Amino acid sequence: MPFADHRSARRFAVPLAAFLAFTASAIPAERIQAQNRLKVYISADLEGVAGTVTPDQLGPAGFEYQRAREWMTGEVLAAIQGARDAGATEILVSDSHGNGENILIDRLPADVRLVRSWPRPLMMMQGIDSTFAAAVFIGYHAATTNTAGVRAHTISSARLAAVLLNGTAMPESGINAAIAGHFGVPVVMISGDDAAVREAQALIGPMEGAEVKQFISFHAAASLTPEAAQALIRSKVKAGVERRATMRPWVMRTPVTLDITFKSYRPAELLAYLPIVQRTNAHTIRYQAPDMLAISKFIEFVTSYSVDIDP
Ligand SMILES: [Zn+2]
Repeated sequence: MPFADHRSARRFAVPLAAFLAFTASAIPAERIQAQNRLKVYISADLEGVAGTVTPDQLGPAGFEYQRAREWMTGEVLAAIQGARDAGATEILVSDSHGNGENILIDRLPADVRLVRSWPRPLMMMQGIDSTFAAAVFIGYHAATTNTAGVRAHTISSARLAAVLLNGTAMPESGINAAIAGHFGVPVVMISGDDAAVREAQALIGPMEGAEVKQFISFHAAASLTPEAAQALIRSKVKAGVERRATMRPWVMRTPVTLDITFKSYRPAELLAYLPIVQRTNAHTIRYQAPDMLAISKFIEFVTSYSVDIDP
């Protein structure tokens, strides 16, 4: 209705006010509060952040790592802004790269919470639950099975050659979308290189995508500047959170079958000692679980106590 139509609106003003007063008193205060909440989950990695291309940016030993932490923090702040532009009232961020201690926590707004370090039962999605309305992936990269992704890997570039869920090769975006899907939460936006964004959209379904750099090779890209990437991310997160009702949670058929192919022989051999694990070839094991929570814990276990079973 156009705003010019004030007169007809006034005719209904008294009955409408009475109706609103009635309904307000009929709904418990907690429910009104819950209805007004809009919780957004942000999972952040570093390989897909604008400017990052090699270990020079990806770990504490790299000459440009301290700068890369600033870029990653900037992209997370842009995502927080975009979520707020779309009405988000609560935001949980998980620092999901390397040691899990990359994001500069003192740069985040006081009402945002940050998940740091490892291990975590839900890995890059720790803290998500069914009260969240939307999930956002920042700084993501393509799967280890993708031939055209900057720093393409799945969970561990040193150890894993493939991770399959129900027979389909997964990037981290797929595993994490399935964890969100377990809780009925849709992924509404992803940022990363062009391969990561296209791969997630093809696998998971329609979502907003911010391509902050273009693949040239495993260790090269044509990147946006941090400033340009952050502006793009803010607008895409806003659009994604606003369109969340049109994006479906990505739910895995249960029970879920997980296949992990290791780059080396030994972990497959040793893990197959466990009666819950089946060895399907020299480098591959299979584990079946009732849901994505058990799958997530299993992957975290297998990739976290690597010191003892690798190579
Ligand atoms: Zn990473």
